[in-house]
Amino acid sequence: QQFGEFNLKPEVISALKKIGFDKPTPIQAKLIPTILRGGDVVGQSQTGSGKTHTFLVPLFDHLEPEQQKTQVVITTPSRELAAQIAKAARQFAEAMGLVKVSIAEYVGGTDKNRQIRQLEKHQAQVVVGTPGRLNDLVKSGALVVNQAKTLVVDEADMTLDMGFLPDVDFLAAAMPKDLQTLVFSATMPEKLKPFLKKYMDNPTFQTI
Ligand code: AMP
Repeated sequence: QQFGEFNLKPEVISALKKIGFDKPTPIQAKLIPTILRGGDVVGQSQTGSGKTHTFLVPLFDHLEPEQQKTQVVITTPSRELAAQIAKAARQFAEAMGLVKVSIAEYVGGTDKNRQIRQLEKHQAQVVVGTPGRLNDLVKSGALVVNQAKTLVVDEADMTLDMGFLPDVDFLAAAMPKDLQTLVFSATMPEKLKPFLKKYMDNPTFQTI
């Protein structure tokens, strides 16, 4: 399969060429079309499968660069993963020639008050962070997620193991009812299922 077979904007196709992606990985081939149609997905795959771009590609296809509000929230359990995702997102935005798009990273152990002051002036369109910090910023009223379109829960099993699922639950509850929810997880523990049931609408499950 080719990226050109998906219903992607020409700028997205050219960005994929620019970053050197010739064809979709198996998880991308399976899930990008569903995500583009607005469907909820649960992708069970390992790091290295190309899962990051499984959500980044449709995210940038749908992003509205002129809209200065949080459109996508991505949670991940570790600071390192948040940095990796933000880096990949910035690289993709640049390859698309999107100069106005802002991608913000909010993780624990950083200056929260500074982030609150920044957020009072400017909401980023794409937000990547660890669940606890994102939750704190929403609770303080600084980060506004009530008009976001998509929530990505990366490494959901690790999020559960680290005790962060209640934070993700709070975030999801602060987002619109018709939210598109994309969950990625290496394994599918039973304890994750109530969350999936609560926030996902007829999701497509894919194990790679
Ligand atoms: P991930 O599983 O998202 O951590 O991706 C693993 C690596 O594969 C990263 O270095 C990506 O940049 C790369 N990658 C993802 N999708 C593709 C693709 N379609 N073609 C080539 N490389 C890719």
